[in-house]
Amino acid sequence: MQWGDDVQHFDCLIVGGGHAGAQAAILLRQLKYEGSVGLIGDEPEFPYERPPLSKDYLAGEKAFERILLRPPSFWTDQSISLFLGERVKTINPADHQVVTAKGTAFTYGKLIWAGGGSARRLSCPGSTAKGLFTVRSRADVDGLMATLPKAERYAIVGGGYIGLEAAAVLSKLGKQVTLLEAQERLLARVAGPELSDFFAAEHRAHGVDVRLAAAVEAIETNESGQATGVKLADGEVIPADAVIVGIGIVPETGPLILAGASGGNGVDVDQYCETSLPDVYAIGDCAAHENRFAAGRRMRLESVQNANDQARTAVQHIMGNPAPYEAVPWFWSNQYDLRLQTIGLSIEYDECIVRGDPASRSFSVVYLRQGQVIALDCVNRTKDYVQGRAHVLAGSRLDRAQLSDAEIPLKEVGLA
Ligand code: FAD
Repeated sequence: MQWGDDVQHFDCLIVGGGHAGAQAAILLRQLKYEGSVGLIGDEPEFPYERPPLSKDYLAGEKAFERILLRPPSFWTDQSISLFLGERVKTINPADHQVVTAKGTAFTYGKLIWAGGGSARRLSCPGSTAKGLFTVRSRADVDGLMATLPKAERYAIVGGGYIGLEAAAVLSKLGKQVTLLEAQERLLARVAGPELSDFFAAEHRAHGVDVRLAAAVEAIETNESGQATGVKLADGEVIPADAVIVGIGIVPETGPLILAGASGGNGVDVDQYCETSLPDVYAIGDCAAHENRFAAGRRMRLESVQNANDQARTAVQHIMGNPAPYEAVPWFWSNQYDLRLQTIGLSIEYDECIVRGDPASRSFSVVYLRQGQVIALDCVNRTKDYVQGRAHVLAGSRLDRAQLSDAEIPLKEVGLA
């Protein structure tokens, strides 16, 4: 089918200007892709890093210009056409066409979907009140930062990494912070109890009121619709001038699924990041893939590592040099003066061994499945993180007594 002059064609069209989409565009050019490259992103900013949003950007320690993934001139210099502030609404896979909410139409040779996810919102009474903030985009965090001069009491709903990082920043800024976690422990979805207990103690020592098994029933509001507190299931009301909601994301896959791509929690992709639609790839937070480090289980990973490595997988496939996605997962989080580094995935671990004393604020948790090392959480222990990688890759079976001795470097621990 022929399209009129008003329809722009790109040999490779990318949807989503976050880590994954931007990295795909950057890699196409680095690997000397000669076709035309377009990137459509619904945020108005040039592509930027998200991790600082809950860390040094929120703390006011890093200006926005310093978290841009590339300087603004990079994109034109590299002949990458950016369409910012445009949201893709529909995909027509048969015609290789996408149309944005503004009605702009594009055709593509290959399409890389990198829509990421949007912050999950509360669904309880009062959840649309003023004074509720999510932490996903620059706009979200700028809104939150605007409350800093006046607000003193912050309630944070969600004890995952984003909630904990925000709690660390706000308490360092002298705010009164209450952190509400519905589960019995923090980080329950991603880490073992040793790490949960450690972070709960750290936050309490910094003055954060950490509440576990705290189910939110409603957001209390005043007559002008402003949030004034969080009501818990037991009837207690936590007074708050602002409420932060950090309860995960909903993958952004709507147009793809409507177009017939298979998926559920995300878009299903194969080992080359191909979706079930012809010439359409999906990468990053929205891509449900079978991960070798999760015993082949289909999952989405929400990390910079996964965004970057899946971008490489898709780009290599497009350029006729395919290599399956097998990258070892890694992640980090900064809270106070603590640097957590994670390698591997602790999913379905059946044993964990602690190296070092958590009270010393430098220790690692090694996760085993059927005796094999599958992951490490390392707090202020970068050497374990670096040396543990080889064990995760090999699925090493290590001598448990040596493994628990923090004096023995991981690379010297003998086999079981
Ligand atoms: P995103 O970065 O979400 O980008 C997707 C983009 O696509 C967005 O700009 C979105 O607006 C756009 N989009 C969506 N739908 C459409 C559409 N229909 N049309 C056009 N555009 C669309 N990871 C770590 O590894 N370490 C950390 O310390 C860490 N800290 C984090 C802190 C915060 C506050 C957040 C929010 C995330 C953090 N992450 C961290 C996770 C990491 O940032 C994400 O995994 C990564 O950004 C995923 O990249 P992505 O491109 O898949 O998605």
